[in-house]
Amino acid sequence: MIRINENYRLLKSSYLFSEIAKRVGAFQEANPGKRIIRMGIGDVTVPLPPAIIRAFHEGVDDMASMERFKGYGPEQGYDFLREKIARNDFRSRGAHIEADEIFISDGAKCDTGNFQELFAQDCVVAVPDPVYPVYVDTNVMAGRAGAGDGGRYKGLVYMECTAGNDFVPDFPRERADLIYLCFPNNPTGATITRERLAAWVEYARENKSLILYDAAYEAFIREVSLPRSIFEIPGAREVAVEFRSFSKTAGFTGTRCAFTVIPKDCRAFDADGNPQFIHALWNRRHTTKFNGVSYPVQRAAEAVYSPEGAKQVREIVDYYLENARLVRREMTKLGYACTGGQDSPYIWVNTGKSSWEFFDMLLAKAAVVCTPGEGFGKCGEGFIRISAFNSRENVVEALERISKV
Ligand SMILES: *Cc1c(COP(=O)(O)O)cnc(C)c1O
Repeated sequence: MIRINENYRLLKSSYLFSEIAKRVGAFQEANPGKRIIRMGIGDVTVPLPPAIIRAFHEGVDDMASMERFKGYGPEQGYDFLREKIARNDFRSRGAHIEADEIFISDGAKCDTGNFQELFAQDCVVAVPDPVYPVYVDTNVMAGRAGAGDGGRYKGLVYMECTAGNDFVPDFPRERADLIYLCFPNNPTGATITRERLAAWVEYARENKSLILYDAAYEAFIREVSLPRSIFEIPGAREVAVEFRSFSKTAGFTGTRCAFTVIPKDCRAFDADGNPQFIHALWNRRHTTKFNGVSYPVQRAAEAVYSPEGAKQVREIVDYYLENARLVRREMTKLGYACTGGQDSPYIWVNTGKSSWEFFDMLLAKAAVVCTPGEGFGKCGEGFIRISAFNSRENVVEALERISKV
């Protein structure tokens, strides 16, 4: 008898986006003439800029050439891309990262989801609340989360992110081994200061923990005092792994390219308490289960670092940031406390009502769709997430409609 992995039965149905679709569908049916504006989008809307498209095309042409054709590439990614990442994203900011500490992949979702398999079944996992659901669900699948209990899992440690701590988690009461942090945060849009990130690095060093740092939105940081990488913090190399992606940075959500940074001195411990290098473990995992990102896609990603590509990508991020600024300004003017929307494409709005009540009100009265915060965890109740991934026209019209209700 072929039996299933029972852990999959512990997963909560991902009702958030299906429930939103259901309510939006019902509204559209009842109001066929109304143009609905979606402000809940977690996906980019601007196409790839010319410098990247050109490099992408050239990569495709290489595949048609007898001399330049590529078969299997290195699983960890081509050196031309790894070198540029190490130099431009890290060394230029004083973070000492080498090209061979970078693992190119097809997504930060897969990497953040897969990474937990390197660690012991009984390690204590701490996740933020509200949370990017991938961190939770992959630990549930692995059998580390235990049974569900009132919207939470008994086996996980939840780090509450509220206005009281500026949506940056405090150290958990129980000692945690594996700690997921995400800044700029999805869904709250919160950022972390250098001091508080340094305190987390210190915590991980003292507790022999590991921080999984999701920096998928680092390109949105404009405030110069904020760290863009955890490796800007002294001492982080031994205790942190960083996930990055070209998805939100450069519009690669449909093209697929990301990377994970694992310093060679980053460690976890074996049953005897001896340090083991995570770089070697992930290298083994990655080369066994992954066969590399396609060559033209890596050429396209490389163009993000050319002077022209960097400029074009920055202009697109600036466009989203201006959307975010407009949303934050209008919602604040209407009397709602907002987080994010600066150095982040997401605005986390305290509605003073239940998330779904506010969602329904916005849909019924303004034909605007947002994302109810409750869908990201207990601490999201009372909040909605508004996304800046949209056209300026849509943002302006949505805000006009909201201000009238
Ligand atoms: C969008 C996003 C990612 C990026 O995922 P990809 O698989 O690289 O597209 C990673 N983490 C968070 C929190 C995100 O919102």
